[in-house]
Amino acid sequence: MTPGTYLQLRRKAAGLSIEDVAGAVRTVPHLAEIDRAAFIRLIESDIAAPVWDVIEALSGAFALDRDVVDLLRLAQDFPRHFKAIDLSLPQICKQCGCSDCDPCIVNGRSCAWSAPDLCNACSPSLQEAAHVA
Ligand SMILES: [Zn+2]
Ligand SMILES: [Zn+2]
Repeated sequence: MTPGTYLQLRRKAAGLSIEDVAGAVRTVPHLAEIDRAAFIRLIESDIAAPVWDVIEALSGAFALDRDVVDLLRLAQDFPRHFKAIDLSLPQICKQCGCSDCDPCIVNGRSCAWSAPDLCNACSPSLQEAAHVA
C-alpha cells in the first residue's frame, strides 16, 4: 500500500469527499479551497509527498496514524533500505485503512483482525460468524 492510498482509504472511511477535507483543513501559506482539493488529489495519487505538516493538517479532518504514513513512505522511497534494516509494514485494513493504533470503533469496541489485511468491521460475514459462536 502506498501512503497516498492509505490516506485515501482513511478519508473515505471517515465518509469525507476530497472537497470536504479541502474545506476542513487550513494551510500555511493559505491556499484557496480549490487548490487544496487539487493538492489532496496529488497526495492521494502519490505525486506529492505527504510531508509532516500536510499530515498534521489532514489529521485534523479525519483519523489517521502518523506512524503508518511514515512507514509507508519509507517503504516506498527506500525499499531496499527498508528491507535491510528489517522494518516491517504495519497491519492495515485494505478496505478502511485502519491499523492497530487507529482502529475502527464499533459499538464502543475496537475492531480486530479477521484476516491479515482485513478488519472485522469491514467483514460483516465473519462478524456474524463470531456472533453465532
Ligand atoms: Zn477495515
Ligand atoms: Zn477496522
